[in-house]
Amino acid sequence: MSIEIFDGTPGRQDIEFGKWCQEHRDDGFVINIHRGKNPDRFYRIHRASCTSIEIPTRDENPNPFTGRNVIKVVSTEMRALNQWLDENHPNQRANEKCEKCSP
Ligand SMILES: [Zn+2]
Repeated sequence: MSIEIFDGTPGRQDIEFGKWCQEHRDDGFVINIHRGKNPDRFYRIHRASCTSIEIPTRDENPNPFTGRNVIKVVSTEMRALNQWLDENHPNQRANEKCEKCSP
């Protein structure tokens, strides 16, 4: 079981996140989630190929996808992501699936 977290720290920024998504277009899942443990914050699960998490080619702010309030937690196993949610955000369930990509 392995997950990776792209949270805007060195080596875990948008460029690395984008690369991961490219490599895992067919088998990757991505959780879009707020930093910290606030259980009231939303999160959503996408496929790595979902167009709604594609890195914009032009954005004046550095790391808009990983360096702001929302980070990315990724894995090729949905089970691993659910386990991570249980451990880190026990009050949230992995039922917030993106309607666009139906992970
Ligand atoms: Zn999606």
